Parts: sequence; C-alpha cells; structure tokens
Amino acid sequence: MNRKYNKILLKLSGEILAGGGHFGLDYDAIRGICEEIAEVAKEGIMVSMVVGGGNIIRGAQTKYIERAQADYMGMLGTVINALALQDALESLGQPTRVQSAIEMRQIAETVIRRRAIRHLEKGRIVIFAAGTGSPYFSTDTTAALRASEIGADCVIKATKVDGIYDKDPEKYPDAVKLPHITYMDALSMQLKVMDAAAFSLCQDNDIPIIVFDVLKKGNLRRLLIDGENIGSIVSR
Ligand code: UDP
Repeated sequence: MNRKYNKILLKLSGEILAGGGHFGLDYDAIRGICEEIAEVAKEGIMVSMVVGGGNIIRGAQTKYIERAQADYMGMLGTVINALALQDALESLGQPTRVQSAIEMRQIAETVIRRRAIRHLEKGRIVIFAAGTGSPYFSTDTTAALRASEIGADCVIKATKVDGIYDKDPEKYPDAVKLPHITYMDALSMQLKVMDAAAFSLCQDNDIPIIVFDVLKKGNLRRLLIDGENIGSIVSR
C-alpha cells in the first residue's frame, strides 16, 4: 500500500463534538464523525486522537476562577469528551484505548508513549485525554506534542471550514483558500486555526498539519485512503 499518511494524529475540537451548538455533547454528531474515523482505521491507518474541551470549559475565558484551576477543569472536560468518543467508536466495533495525562486509573490508562505506539500497531485507536496535563497549554499544542512523541506522519486538524484562507471566510466572501503554506507563513499570519506553540512544535519535528472540513462526509477517507489533496497543508 502506497499511502502518504499511515500513522495520523487527528485533533478534534470540543466544538465539533457539540455538533451545531457550542456546549455539551451531540451524540449524533459524535457517531457520524466516529463512523468516518473507524472506517479509515479498518483500512489499516493507525489513528491516534487528541480531543479538546471547548464544548465544556475553556480555562482562559473563565473570569471567576483562577486560570490554572480553570485549566485543570478544562482538561477534565477533555476526558469526558474522550470517553464519549471511546464509547461511540467501540459501539462501531473499533477497539480503542484512552490515555490520560492526568492519572485516572479507573477510567483511562496513563499516557505511556511506548504503550500508545503498541496499541496503534495492534489496530487500536488511541485517544489522548487531559491535554498535556499542565495548565497554560492548549489541546492543539497537545496534538503537536503527541504527534511528535508517537512519530505520526501528520497532524490532521479537523475544523468546520475546508482549509486555510487568507482571511476569515465566514466574515469575508472574497477570502481566498490557500492550499499550501509554510510553518513560517502560519506563524507570521497569526492564523487562528492553531496556536503558535503547536505550529512551532510541528515545525521543529517536521510534521505536516492538514486543515480540513471534518463535517463533510467522506472527507477523511478521501484524504487518507484515496490520497486526494483536500483542505490546506502547512509544511516546510
Ligand atoms: N488545557 C490545559 N492544558 C492543556 C490542554 C488543555 O490547561 O495541555 C485546558 C485549557 O483550559 C483549555 C481547555 O483545557 O482551554 C480545553 O482545551 P482547548 O481549549 O484546547 O479545546 P478545544 O478548543 O480544542 O475544544
């Protein structure tokens, strides 16, 4: 099999798990995304995931709670999301393991790099929860970190738009899609699609970032199995 990406790290934001809304879990939306993910895993792609928590709590936006404390709450939110994804994937017959950066032995393994790699080799999807385990970071940075640790071929950043534009396509109808940009472009354009720490970690480890619309049915398959150039790519 001559596929470009065999081992992927898929970053799903919390908002995607909320379906059309901004808060909570939309089980139909989760199932829909999990069907697409399970499909590519069954084709032999090694799939690891980092899930966000923005549908539950965002540390930096919480005025009434100390930042670090709110960040820990945010990380716990990602664990709820990870368990929801695990349930949806396993109900589709896809084996999974959740690895949490904050120890929670009753519900998840601890993040152990070599163990995660072994799970992937055995065809299990690994869902990384609780971010980096430290406040003041984001789950985008976690995605870049875990991708580097497990030697992923790419980070796939699932968004609600179909790539990177020169300006916000939801605000400006004349926004132009950029199929390829460099890490330096991404940093200098201060793109909101991922934070600077995530871009620079991927740059340091030469891991391309693919930004694409995960809500469009069949897109993950098109990208990974059919080898189509969809979305936008950030690389050297
Ligand atoms: N968070 C953190 N450290 C990490 C990852 C996440 O403190 O390593 C917290 C932070 O408060 C963040 C929240 O968890 O706001 C949810 O993650 P994020 O905002 O990245 O989720 P997304 O936007 O992808 O849904």
